[in-house]
Amino acid sequence: MPAAPEAPAVTVRVPAKVNVQLAVGPPGPDGFHELANVFLAVALHDDVTAAPAPPGTGIRLACEGPDADAVPLDDSNLAARAAALLAAHHGLPTPDVDLHIAKDIPVAGGMAGGSADAAGALLACDALWGTATPAEELHALASRLGSDVPFCLLGGAALGQGRGERLTPLPVAGTFHWVFAVADGGLSTPAVYRECDRLRAAAEPAGQPAAEPAAGAAHEPRPDPVLLAALRDGDAAALAARLPAANDLQPAALSLRPALADTLAAGRAAGALAGLVSGSGPTCAFLVADADAARAVAARLADSGTCRSARVTTAPAPGPTTIGTHA
Ligand code: ATP
Repeated sequence: MPAAPEAPAVTVRVPAKVNVQLAVGPPGPDGFHELANVFLAVALHDDVTAAPAPPGTGIRLACEGPDADAVPLDDSNLAARAAALLAAHHGLPTPDVDLHIAKDIPVAGGMAGGSADAAGALLACDALWGTATPAEELHALASRLGSDVPFCLLGGAALGQGRGERLTPLPVAGTFHWVFAVADGGLSTPAVYRECDRLRAAAEPAGQPAAEPAAGAAHEPRPDPVLLAALRDGDAAALAARLPAANDLQPAALSLRPALADTLAAGRAAGALAGLVSGSGPTCAFLVADADAARAVAARLADSGTCRSARVTTAPAPGPTTIGTHA
């Protein structure tokens, strides 16, 4: 049922994520990789608003924020795809809706910004259209939009298996403090996975193709029990000890963008407990001891010349919240 023209607009705030572990298996026949993905939602947000639009408008999209120029405004935008998918799921005719994204999550930064917008659009349109989609149906729609979208509906912390969409919420004690070093330009996630496969194939002993069980077993993605215990206990030092080797995509991101090694070194020199490339990069994430350390590390990173900007934040952040309905 399309929204009545007088229906109030709905704004949903959705957090970004960092992968504190990203274990990547070999590619399957469809090219996708089995993952063990420890997601942590961080308190950097996009706000997605769905508002009624005049008949015949279709799905109209606007985006504002420092990176807005890098966001596609056509039907490839994940928020627009989410709105179209939700409408199709409910058998609605082509919906008329104005989607607005207030974007604060770095674009193509390995922080799931597009996925966050997709989750926000699903929830905002569901409220606007009064479709009351059950949680398990929203999860299934989210999985079709991308492997990070289901976590973006959930927030907090979770282990993602399969392509990342089979989620198990994880307990986390207390608050972890983070600094994110945002790079100039993005990295394509598919290109980083391809580079990961290439580096692994190059490292295989001759005559042992990566698809063979022995080679596959070497990369079987498993959650790190020590890292999960560190999250559960709120132990930043223990978590920091696991981070430098936690992201299987990090060597590929560094191979495609060697300057990220300078960013990681600058963060450590600035006093971070540990750093890692966030997801497929190029954003680098630094775990720090507390809020004072976060401010100091961010200031030094910003002065280091190794990143575009440095953002201070905390985790885990709660999942999507409706922050307003307004005429
Ligand atoms: P992930 O961490 O899930 O791999 P990412 O944070 O690296 O994703 P995104 O910010 O989601 O990357 O953007 C990746 C690409 O997706 C962009 O370069 C852009 O072309 C496209 N895109 C589609 N919809 C959006 C959106 N709503 N916001 C940002 N980028 C989008």
